[in-house]
Amino acid sequence: MSPSKDALRVLECAPNKYLVLSVDLFILTASELYLEATETTRETIVGRHIFDAFPDNPNIADIEGVNNVNFSLQEVLRTKKIHQLPVIRYDVPDQNRPGAFIEKYWHASHTPVLNEDGEIEFIIQLANNVTEQVLTARALKVVEQQNSDTKALLTRVTKEMTEQVNARQETERMSNQLRLAVEAAKIGTWFIQPESKALTYNENLAVIFGYKGNAPMTYEQAIGQVTDEYRSAILNAIEEAIASGGDYDFTYQQLRFNDNELVWLRSLGRISEDEQGNHSIFSGVVIDITEQKKDEQRKNDFIGMVSHELKTPLTSLTGIIQIAGLKLKGHEDIFLGTAINRAGVLVKRMSTMINGFLNISRLESGKILIYKQRFAIDELIRGVIDETNLSSSSDVIEFDECDRLEVRADRDKIASVLSNLLSNAIKYSSKSPTIQVTCQATATEVQVSVKDDGMGIDEEDAKHIFERYYRVQSQDMKHISGFGIGLYLSAEIIERHGGRIWVESESGKGSIFAFTLPLEQKA
Ligand code: ADP
Repeated sequence: MSPSKDALRVLECAPNKYLVLSVDLFILTASELYLEATETTRETIVGRHIFDAFPDNPNIADIEGVNNVNFSLQEVLRTKKIHQLPVIRYDVPDQNRPGAFIEKYWHASHTPVLNEDGEIEFIIQLANNVTEQVLTARALKVVEQQNSDTKALLTRVTKEMTEQVNARQETERMSNQLRLAVEAAKIGTWFIQPESKALTYNENLAVIFGYKGNAPMTYEQAIGQVTDEYRSAILNAIEEAIASGGDYDFTYQQLRFNDNELVWLRSLGRISEDEQGNHSIFSGVVIDITEQKKDEQRKNDFIGMVSHELKTPLTSLTGIIQIAGLKLKGHEDIFLGTAINRAGVLVKRMSTMINGFLNISRLESGKILIYKQRFAIDELIRGVIDETNLSSSSDVIEFDECDRLEVRADRDKIASVLSNLLSNAIKYSSKSPTIQVTCQATATEVQVSVKDDGMGIDEEDAKHIFERYYRVQSQDMKHISGFGIGLYLSAEIIERHGGRIWVESESGKGSIFAFTLPLEQKA
């Protein structure tokens, strides 16, 4: 049985959102507010099955609107009792856009209206539109998420800022320490503007330079104090460092402004980038090394003096041993013969060492002199090889004979270079080494190489091997004596002849030491 028209009209006007359904779920009527909320008109829905009038939004997968409402209605029909649904999504068709739906959320209940016999006469659906609340809650959630994202961002930024502040404090602390160290060590600091050459400097630098002028010292004034010997070299070194962005390290002599004293200075610097990434700051430090140089000079003088004093008796001793050796030739006492030969080898080694020291001190004081004469280098090589083979236990050196090649050089000094390379090749090799000497010429120069199969030198050591007193520090080296002056002297001698000297080596794989000398040009 359906409700009377009057009853329906009452419901239509009730100030709430009602839908009135028959027991077979056809729409009998709806309140004004319900029509408004579902954006429908009475004409379009009355008389239709509820799910025909309000189908599920087909554009949303898994939407459960129909299922939920149907479940609730079936419960009412079964129990004849009111059934309350939780908030559900149930989209309504968009009247303005056919096929489109409007997202809606509802809090609905179904109430059975029973007749006198206790049978359900009709069902009232009371539907509260809670779309706004749901959407607001969802928006709030997004805002909350954004908030927490912002919070995380803020925390990260704060952390980064703290780190930056700490780093800046650390930099400040370090630069303060550096400043104190610079003060304490009386280090002069300077800044040169690469283009204008405007000079800025600290108080220590003025003291080192002995500068007491009222106006600040200019770059030109500073360079003017450098001795003639070093002036153009220092200017070149500065320009090169500025152009290449490389390090600048220069040791030179200059006159002090106040007392005209000659001082030794070491200046170190580097061009660095400013905040815009331009190479615009050329800065560095300068230290007074006059005392250090004087110490070195005193040491050199002492070594020179001692070597010189030792040389005279040693020359006599060599002579005596040679005469004794001659006298003992054919003598029946074999021990005496062997002993005198051995003494000869040892005295020769000592002479070489002392000559080395003598040469070092001569070199340092600029007294090493080169006496050039014309001679055939292939002959010299053969001679030095024979001599070296004689003083070692077996003939270990092979010579790849070459054509006669004439050079103009200091014969004795070139002999000492070769002798040093050969004795090193033996010294830094196994007990039975293979050493190969080659000699070849190009149009302008002759190249002599000494190849051994010994312990070799690693890349880092190879860079320093020609420096004064440099020796490789390794376990194998502990038992091999030496002073690290042979290669230094060799390099100096070769360079003074206008030649080059170098090493090609790898640790454990032997070495090749080679040098060149300019060939005597035939007129
Ligand atoms: P010294 O042999 O007296 O130490 P040198 O100046 O002749 O001095 O040599 C310097 C260093 O170079 C040596 O101490 C050694 O470590 C290394 N060296 C020189 N020649 C060789 C070589 N042929 N093989 C391996 N290392 C070498």
